[in-house]
Amino acid sequence: MKDPNKKTTAAKKIKTVRQTRPGWDAYFINIAKAVSERATCLRRRYGAVITKNHVIVSTGYNGAPAGMKDCLDAAKCTRKELQIPHGERYELCHSVHAEANAIIRASADELSGATIYISGADAGSGECLSEPCMMCKRMILNAGIAKVVHSDGEGGFYAITPKDWLKTRV
Ligand SMILES: [Zn+2]
Ligand SMILES: [Zn+2]
Repeated sequence: MKDPNKKTTAAKKIKTVRQTRPGWDAYFINIAKAVSERATCLRRRYGAVITKNHVIVSTGYNGAPAGMKDCLDAAKCTRKELQIPHGERYELCHSVHAEANAIIRASADELSGATIYISGADAGSGECLSEPCMMCKRMILNAGIAKVVHSDGEGGFYAITPKDWLKTRV
């Protein structure tokens, strides 16, 4: 006969299912990816998210200045048409970059010591290496942003300290 007072070990054996969840960097870069879907350039869509102490203070995506026809409206991107290599002749696309749009919507206080997350997708090949361009790097430096996390184009991301850019002139 079973002793009802005898403790079974069954209770102890119940496994706690520990749910895995993304870390802060993965969490915010995924949000940057969602933001990029609002971008209006036919060539590349970028999204940027600026956080301070793990709270979002600003977001931005690349698009034409308010009131100006963007690449989607015009149904063409001159840089795409002319097959301008990446990193060159930015003036031919009318977009304000995602990083710049996010920066102009945050206060100087919010930007100081903040982190910016950047995720971009190429119209043809999908997610791409999303290192900021030279102009955005300069802006990030002057905004006092302390950390940059950008997608590596292979499902992961790089976390960098903008001050490292100062080793060479950007
Ligand atoms: Zn464009
Ligand atoms: Zn840029």
